[in-house]
Amino acid sequence: MNLWFTENQTDNLRLSFRVKNLVEFRKSKFQTLAVYDTVEYGRLFTLDDFVMLTEKDEFVYHEMISHIALSCHPKPENILVIGGGDGGTIREIERHSRVKNITLVEIDREVVEISKKHLPFVACGFDDERVSVIIDDGIEYIKNHKNKFDIIFIDSTDPVAFAEGLFHTDFYKFVFDALKKDGIMVAQTEYPFLKGDFIKEVFSSLKQVFPIVSPYLAFIPTYPTGMWSFAFASKKYHYINDLNPEFTKDFAEKLKYYTPEVHKAAFALPKFVKDLIE
Ligand code: SAM
Repeated sequence: MNLWFTENQTDNLRLSFRVKNLVEFRKSKFQTLAVYDTVEYGRLFTLDDFVMLTEKDEFVYHEMISHIALSCHPKPENILVIGGGDGGTIREIERHSRVKNITLVEIDREVVEISKKHLPFVACGFDDERVSVIIDDGIEYIKNHKNKFDIIFIDSTDPVAFAEGLFHTDFYKFVFDALKKDGIMVAQTEYPFLKGDFIKEVFSSLKQVFPIVSPYLAFIPTYPTGMWSFAFASKKYHYINDLNPEFTKDFAEKLKYYTPEVHKAAFALPKFVKDLIE
């Protein structure tokens, strides 16, 4: 019982989980995939030895990436998710009966396969008839779609290798064009404590493209530093003024992190985060 999985978060910072057993380890064309059973956090899914999710705290990330924008858009019918092959984000989007179509564009087929096999708590929404899964590079996919989506979620890995382009101004311009005239984009944008320069750059790029832009925060214990940021970027709807608590009311009892109060609070930024984006 002395097996550990260690994530090297930076050259100087590590997070270790005591592991009961390795469930599966495989290499795809794109990355190394692994699933472990841990003592404290239940099932753990890693890509290239970076934590993607754990069974115990994944609800924070998936509820917070999805319900914020869905609570501000009055008619979110066509949704695009780039990345997110584990299924956690589409599981949350499906709770909204106003949503008619969800397109998930994941670059690595094996992420979807391994999640269906070992992570049923997130991969439980692939059979919903509103979902289409496309195995493709999200950057290429978005270039070929204009004026089509109400909300686009960028549920990607860290900004390295094939995910790097998902954080550039050119990509945000394609996202802007792929959205309808009142569309919203939400993206995961790393951790302000140690990625300040990166966050500065991302928000400066977003502000060049979208008229309404703000970071928001959530507390995720197994992600580096525990404080995680997301970007809300919108053509029309405002993250607080257009929040409608009715949009999550039908399933509010099923959620574990998101509430309309948490929604508002997530945009109350600590001063050092505010300074990064001003
Ligand atoms: N919650 C996770 C986190 O931040 O640690 C991210 C979820 S993870 C399942 C993100 C997914 O994005 C991975 O499966 C990866 O294969 C996919 N991805 C990365 N770059 C991509 C791209 N250019 N197009 C489509 N999917 C991509």
